Amino acid sequence: MKRYFRDIFQSIWTVLQGMKITGFHLFTRSCTLQYPSVKWELPERSRMRLFNKIEDCIGCGQCVRACPVDCIYMTTERRAKEEAPIFAADGTPIKLRVTQFDIDMSLCCYCNLCTYPCPTHCLVMTPEYEFAVQAKQDFLYRFAKDEPQAPPKPAPSPRPAGSR
Ligand code: SF4
Ligand code: SF4
Repeated sequence: MKRYFRDIFQSIWTVLQGMKITGFHLFTRSCTLQYPSVKWELPERSRMRLFNKIEDCIGCGQCVRACPVDCIYMTTERRAKEEAPIFAADGTPIKLRVTQFDIDMSLCCYCNLCTYPCPTHCLVMTPEYEFAVQAKQDFLYRFAKDEPQAPPKPAPSPRPAGSR
């Protein structure tokens, strides 16, 4: 009989011990978030998804040269003199037509080196970090809107046999 009551006491005591820890956490600050409805505020200089405001891109290629992993692919062509002058938001004249500006975010190492030399500040790191995709090719971001205007260059003719 004595053992019977001792077991009951021990069971209640064990439950109370567990509830003590639970009760303690009821009054401490929560360290979890109700993601995705609530999100962490990211540090000011976080490196996330790249974005190019292509309307302000002058096609200078400085970002391409700065990229250590060569994941920016750009093609430009000179605008004709007869075309109406256009300018970036900061007033820089746009003399080149950017017909391709692709960034392969699957290769990007988020170093941010491409954004610093951009003279018109059109290439930026956004605070966007939720951009997972299932197909790898969806990481190839295409920003260019202009179609090529110049006719494609003819392929070089083969040299005659015996010429140097
Ligand atoms: S963040 Fe770095 S790796 Fe990514 S595109 Fe820019 S320069 Fe290249
Ligand atoms: S550095 Fe800026 S303006 Fe120059 S090509 Fe890159 S995105 Fe365009």
